[in-house]
Amino acid sequence: MIRCTKAFIYKENLENNIKQIRNFVKPNVKICVAVKADGYGHNAVLTAQLAEENGVDYLAVASVNEGIELRKNGIKANILLLSLCTPLEMPDLFQYSITPLIFAEENISCLSTAADNYFNNNDKFPVFLAVDTGMGRVGCYSCDAGKEAALINNSKHLKLAGMCTHFAVSDSVSPENQKYTKLQFEDFKKAIENVKSMGFEPGICSCCNSAALLNNPEMHLDMVRPGIITYGYYPDEVSEEYLKSKGCNIKLKPVLSLETQVVAIRHFEKGKSVSYGRTWSTDEETDIAIIPIGYADGLLRRFSPGLVVSINGKKYPVRGRICMDQCMVDIGKDNKDVKLWDKVVIFGPEESGALCTADDLAAIGNTISYEVLTSISKRVEKIIH
Ligand SMILES: *Cc1c(COP(=O)(O)O)cnc(C)c1O
Repeated sequence: MIRCTKAFIYKENLENNIKQIRNFVKPNVKICVAVKADGYGHNAVLTAQLAEENGVDYLAVASVNEGIELRKNGIKANILLLSLCTPLEMPDLFQYSITPLIFAEENISCLSTAADNYFNNNDKFPVFLAVDTGMGRVGCYSCDAGKEAALINNSKHLKLAGMCTHFAVSDSVSPENQKYTKLQFEDFKKAIENVKSMGFEPGICSCCNSAALLNNPEMHLDMVRPGIITYGYYPDEVSEEYLKSKGCNIKLKPVLSLETQVVAIRHFEKGKSVSYGRTWSTDEETDIAIIPIGYADGLLRRFSPGLVVSINGKKYPVRGRICMDQCMVDIGKDNKDVKLWDKVVIFGPEESGALCTADDLAAIGNTISYEVLTSISKRVEKIIH
């Protein structure tokens, strides 16, 4: 039995977003959809299946386990592991054909040893080299790329299949930040040249996340790595309006709706407090609808005060603290529009009846749509709509 607190995945919207990306990039540019963090909270397997059906070439995960989950559910597409893993996890990379991003002498040497222990033929296992061009996270410096490519290609069972870098401020449209992104791109090209000058093929070169994909088409190279736009949200300042002003008519549609139902309606007299901490009290008599969704489902505690939910096309405020599994909605006295068991939509695409998006919740919670989406927990079942 499916719990009333659930999420619908609007298949057509996800397909629309992938098609919008496909039409925006040149036909020979590969697409790697990020399905890490359980498909940005949308269920990684469902998302990966739909992405695969829609011709996506690569899927990106953040842990070996996420990659294994996809393989065990029949996903055949290439899987790119974006974060680093430890020696104990390495045999699973080979067993499940997960392509790691790698750099640094010691890490490459560990992977090379693990590969030597795993393969007893002359197979060469593909890996991507990570380059840090200014993100300040993982990767080698561009001047070391050739040397690191040599370590990979000179090992018995590894081969360089691609190169990646990641942008730090591509979602900002300020001239200063756009300049930084361009510098990062130039540095990445240097890294590629460095590898070529050592006589190695750099393979599939990729640097664009969602923001750079939309805002810097000249940086697409061989593969783009969209995450958030696949799920229907624009990356920060690279908004729909901003893109329109640049003549780029990309129309993304939110994919996930988070829904629940009214499970009780209670009358509160004037001056009664609601929920833990007694942070809110009625200033006149009112009716309160109880909904069985809380922060353990991903409705972050900091969304209240501020959060409004939609019931039958109208917005109503959540009052007091959001609890682990429940919260309280002020529907006003004698409200004829709200009945027991009515559907409540927290956020989602218009067609779900939602009046808020993950961006609206992010604004209330002082965060970004990414965090709102990835906070939706496993307890919330994801159902294809
Ligand atoms: C998460 C991630 C992406 C996708 O980022 P979006 O901003 O969601 O498009 C791309 N590349 C790397 C390395 C990532 O970690």
